[in-house]
Amino acid sequence: MIGKEAKSTCSYCGVGCGVVIKKNARNRIEVEGDKEHPVNKGMLCSKGMNLHYVVNDTSDRILYPEMRWSRSHPRERVSWDDAMNRAAGVFKSIIKKHGPDSVGFYVSGQCLTEEYYIANKLTKGFLGTNNIDTNSRLCMSSAVVGYKKTFGEDSVPGSYDDIELADCFLIAGANPAWCHPILFRRIEKHKEENPNVKIIVADPRKTDSANFADLHLQLLPGTDVILYNAIGRQLLKKGFIDKNFIRNHTEGFKEFREKVMELSLNQSSKLCGVPAAEIKKAATLIGRSKGFISMWAMGLNQSVIGSDKNFSLLNLSLVTGQVGKPGCGPFSLTGQPNAMGGREVGGMANLLAVHKDLFNEEHRKEVAQFWGVNEISPKPGYTATEMFDALEEGKLKAIWIICTNPMVSLPNVRKAEKALKKAKFVVVQDISHKSDTVDFADLVLPAAGWLEKDGTMTNSERRISYLEKHIHPPGEARADVEILCDFAQRMGFRGFNYNNTEEIYREYTQMTRGTNIDISHLSYDRLKNEGSFQWPVPEYRHAGTPRLFQDRKFYTPSEKAIFNIPASTINTSAKPDSEYPLILTTGRIRDQWHTMTRTGKVARLKTHYPDPILEINLVDAYLNNIKNGDVTEVKSASGTVRLRAKVTENVREGVVFMPMHWGKQLHNDLNRANNLTSDLVDPLSKEPDFKYTTVSVQKY
Ligand code: SF4
Repeated sequence: MIGKEAKSTCSYCGVGCGVVIKKNARNRIEVEGDKEHPVNKGMLCSKGMNLHYVVNDTSDRILYPEMRWSRSHPRERVSWDDAMNRAAGVFKSIIKKHGPDSVGFYVSGQCLTEEYYIANKLTKGFLGTNNIDTNSRLCMSSAVVGYKKTFGEDSVPGSYDDIELADCFLIAGANPAWCHPILFRRIEKHKEENPNVKIIVADPRKTDSANFADLHLQLLPGTDVILYNAIGRQLLKKGFIDKNFIRNHTEGFKEFREKVMELSLNQSSKLCGVPAAEIKKAATLIGRSKGFISMWAMGLNQSVIGSDKNFSLLNLSLVTGQVGKPGCGPFSLTGQPNAMGGREVGGMANLLAVHKDLFNEEHRKEVAQFWGVNEISPKPGYTATEMFDALEEGKLKAIWIICTNPMVSLPNVRKAEKALKKAKFVVVQDISHKSDTVDFADLVLPAAGWLEKDGTMTNSERRISYLEKHIHPPGEARADVEILCDFAQRMGFRGFNYNNTEEIYREYTQMTRGTNIDISHLSYDRLKNEGSFQWPVPEYRHAGTPRLFQDRKFYTPSEKAIFNIPASTINTSAKPDSEYPLILTTGRIRDQWHTMTRTGKVARLKTHYPDPILEINLVDAYLNNIKNGDVTEVKSASGTVRLRAKVTENVREGVVFMPMHWGKQLHNDLNRANNLTSDLVDPLSKEPDFKYTTVSVQKY
């Protein structure tokens, strides 16, 4: 419990800022930035510095289990015993009748690593199905494919400390000024102190990040591969390549060269909407730099060609030899605080823990042996969107949703709503009644939130932090691991009788021994006493690993990094036509987080954007007779939203933008961006196409 002051890590984004928590004279929590923390050095963004409001205001919290015996009855308060017996009873009977693949878990990048580990062990090891996926599927799965295919494993090569050593940044499909603010502050400060540092932003919108950049490549949505291949072509043409690195440490260069030479600079320029001179300038800035870092987020990942976009960007680091050295490397910007930790313990339907491969029989045997079970099913589980499709088709009967709000965040959300209504049994384990998904639950389980439980998280730079329990959860809320272990034991499974979270962590770390993410020598004691560490930490007293691949040996069979050739160069999931002539992209705003169940409670965070708006270009507004502030009706093949227009030059002609945060509970369902998006996904990563929906816009 909090004495004079205590430390923790911000529970919002993957930057992973350190916070200091205090209690004031009125026994209320106060939060400030941790000046000693290596990531943020005392800084916090608007979301982080208002975390205490979220903790102190418990008015929306789910305080006790609630259950309904049938869909025609309201939910009523029940004891934990009744709730857990019912959960176990229903799961047992569904599995007996329909087999293990008829149940599934949908979890979250906000779960702590121990929670993720237990949910995976329970599902893959004991329930006998790989039907466990996470909202990270909506966020980082294309980057995972990119890393695995390029470096052999899902491994972020660099560190935030490489920022201050780099002299050229390509920020692609990301707006870190709003979405990863403390990281962006470090880039800004570095540039202010070193004016020779160059920043390139590739984004269809003029964001705050783009406004700060030396060069804004305002590409057409869906043409990222064309742009990065054109930059690659120019790098080759001007000789800005690292021949030694390519020859000795990569495979596939010939195919890369052939691919990028397919289109002339002018052809590419025409297709991606970026002037040839700007492409040349970008290539020159990258080619002449001593330290080149590419950073990317949802603009690349959330696409039917998200994996291809990742390949084309990663290829730029390979062709310039800018990986495995100080001040360089590709750097994916993780959205959620523990998406990385979740990936480490295999928290997706097609992954196994410690980067082992579900499709590798030996790996499945190793994991099964470690957990003391007969086998792990070789059949990949349903991914996030597949899970809801399977519910609708009646293949999946029961779903357990933990710490995520799919009724706002899933694409084509009305279809997902129908799917959840068709489910035989829905469990929602969450902290807040403000989650729209709670409305669909047959069983609601109150979970502990930030500061109310302990465990670890991994941020975007592979940095593992221990988060201590500082306060008691309200009402009867329990830590997620406790709930899951309780359920596992009621199902009759052995191996879930832990005395504390540390025992779970220790079990997981033993699993990492000898792997590329070895943290078998990183104990809770070290995390508590010495602070956070970047994996791997393979030996006793090891100080952690800020940078991977310094020996230029990668995790592929040949130990070489691979140039991957994008199968598609342009997003063709939809084509603007006379019915839906504009392209909608969705994304975040500065002061809100995900579906607003936490940030939506803080009055001062609503002042920036009190309501959702539609950004529309001056020309498109004029052609549709729309003025600033008019209520517009936006339609796509999936649905409709109504919201006010913000007429702006920040989006290019033919493109509109809408924030993704608002849901039904906090507003009305006509403000929900995912009424409009389609449920198409990338064939490799299964990540949805949030950044490319054709729509019409009219004055309402
Ligand atoms: Fe929290 Fe991210 Fe803001 Fe840091 S940048 S304070 S981790 S939301």
